[in-house]
Amino acid sequence: MQLTKLFALAAASAIFCGPIFSQAAPPPAEIATKTLSTRIVAYQIEAKLDPTKHTIAASETLTYKNLTGQPQQTFPFHLYLNAFQPQSTFMTEVRRSGTRGSGPDTDWDPKHFGSITIDKLEVAGAGDLTNKIEFIQPDDKNTDDHTVVQITLPKPVAPGASVEFHIVFHDVLPKVVERTGYAHDFDMVGQWFPKVGVWWKNAWNCHQFHANTEFFADFGTFDVKITVPQNEIVGAGGDLVSSATNPDGTKTLSYHSEDVHDFSWTASPSFTVVEDSWTGSQGPVKIHLLISPGHESSAQRYIKVAKGSLQLFDEWYGPYPYDRLTMVDPPHGGADAGGMEYPTLITLGTSVHMPQGVLAPEVVTEHEFGHQYWYGMVATNEFEEAWLDEGINSYTEVKVMDKLYGKNTSVLNFPFAQMGESGLQQISYLGDPAKDPLSRFAWQFYDNNSYGDITYGKTATMLLTLEKVIGEDTLRQALHTYFMRYRFTHPTGEDFLKTIEEVSGKDLHWYFNQAVYGTQVLDYSLADAHSDPLKWWDTPAHNSKKNDKDEIYRTYVTVVRKGDFQFPVDLEVKFDDHTTATEHWDGQDRWVRYQYDRKAKIESAQIDAHDQITMDRDYFNNSFIEDANPRAAHKLRTIWVFASEWLSQLLAWLT
Ligand SMILES: [Zn+2]
Repeated sequence: MQLTKLFALAAASAIFCGPIFSQAAPPPAEIATKTLSTRIVAYQIEAKLDPTKHTIAASETLTYKNLTGQPQQTFPFHLYLNAFQPQSTFMTEVRRSGTRGSGPDTDWDPKHFGSITIDKLEVAGAGDLTNKIEFIQPDDKNTDDHTVVQITLPKPVAPGASVEFHIVFHDVLPKVVERTGYAHDFDMVGQWFPKVGVWWKNAWNCHQFHANTEFFADFGTFDVKITVPQNEIVGAGGDLVSSATNPDGTKTLSYHSEDVHDFSWTASPSFTVVEDSWTGSQGPVKIHLLISPGHESSAQRYIKVAKGSLQLFDEWYGPYPYDRLTMVDPPHGGADAGGMEYPTLITLGTSVHMPQGVLAPEVVTEHEFGHQYWYGMVATNEFEEAWLDEGINSYTEVKVMDKLYGKNTSVLNFPFAQMGESGLQQISYLGDPAKDPLSRFAWQFYDNNSYGDITYGKTATMLLTLEKVIGEDTLRQALHTYFMRYRFTHPTGEDFLKTIEEVSGKDLHWYFNQAVYGTQVLDYSLADAHSDPLKWWDTPAHNSKKNDKDEIYRTYVTVVRKGDFQFPVDLEVKFDDHTTATEHWDGQDRWVRYQYDRKAKIESAQIDAHDQITMDRDYFNNSFIEDANPRAAHKLRTIWVFASEWLSQLLAWLT
């Protein structure tokens, strides 16, 4: 995300280093060019990696500009790596209800636990405040959880003024878990520095790290110097500004990034570097791919889907304003670091022998790239409204993958089994459709499965179903409007839903109340369909003067709403004289029965003949076919089960 072409702004971005407790709210220094984001934070970090011990020694200067409109005296910071301790809230929740990756098991060697320790904290103008640091647990009061600290200053920072924190800290990276840590000679360094919370809705928003939560942070600039041994190949979420060799045989790489809310990096001596580029509406974007040993055959697959995704997002939703995209392919044994998004840096996933027909590398790459928009730039609160990122991103994954790889072949493409993205999302949603509404705080879901199925699968599925109500093009336009209007602003779910209503010109409360705020399940069933001679007592069997073709049949078709979700449905009834009847039912009542008197018998009846109602929990009860072939249905179910098994593995991979 960063490093926009706004190099001109670099000076302006260094920005808010003012005296700490300045009284007034001086107007921001003249900023000649408008920046993409309101830059609240400016981080300058110097980090040195010990690739043998997998530790990092670092110092950080954070300049925080108080745009909260009121004096601020207390500041919370995330210390995410402390989640990887046995009694943390994260670990407690993992043991109870699972997590996205494989998670540590009881054999996890304590030396593989991760941590971050603040060795010293000074505030310019206030001196050493290290002993004022206190751990807080705003979500669950678990005093063993050390993922959030707060510091209270001797006096408040005035509105409009800036405060400068100087923090010395060190990290112990865990063995790869939850998208961060090390595997062999590979280090993935994410969520690794003290990160200030967000002043939001008139309060500090700085949640603990939970098994099912992701992130939320303010925009600004990052200037990060990374020192590693000479043989390390580094990838980072910033533009490489300079590189210097040090007398001790290490090198120091300096990166700059702006209009982003996080910074991550990776190092390994074993990467193969693949460089490419793509040019969009905002100019060229460098693609920097780091491939792990044995995965070289996936390189061009990664590149192709990355370029295709850049192109379609640019056309459909809005420009990609940064000048780079770094893609990291974790090594064998480090898969839990794969499938993760950071600003302008994504981690991928493949295997040594990945068949062409399994589009896992493509799905993962597209998914993590899509996050550059919804997580990276729109930047909603992932703790509280995860569906706005993961869910919208899963929907756009369907649209982009289907466009690039075919609607029915965008996930699996074998002669004997094919599957498209919407099927993937449906499988995910239907795994556990009714325990939690989309709108729930991420850590309050029933368990990890419900969190994943609802946040990703249900959002995608309910947006696909919404296409039937407002049209695919209108929904695309609504996403474009939402992105352009709210990028860099931390909007809410209400903002998103309001935008869809505005762009479509429709009142959609009836739909959102069920699909977003409710747990209702949608299931319409074709309960009965049959034809009966109208004069059943006077058929050719009884009356030799009668001719079969003169017989009038009464046909009944009954549709039942089995679920609590009310949604209008279409019914298509075909007769054996090649005529068709179509019905539109508002779906409000529990059932409806249609009746036809024709010189023809029913051939088939189908609810939702064009498969638009993706939220329907059971497709198999949507149709009636005279002379149905039970073997075909059996085969379909077998493929479905096969695909479900395999896809659940894929889904476990995405974050
Ligand atoms: Zn994701």
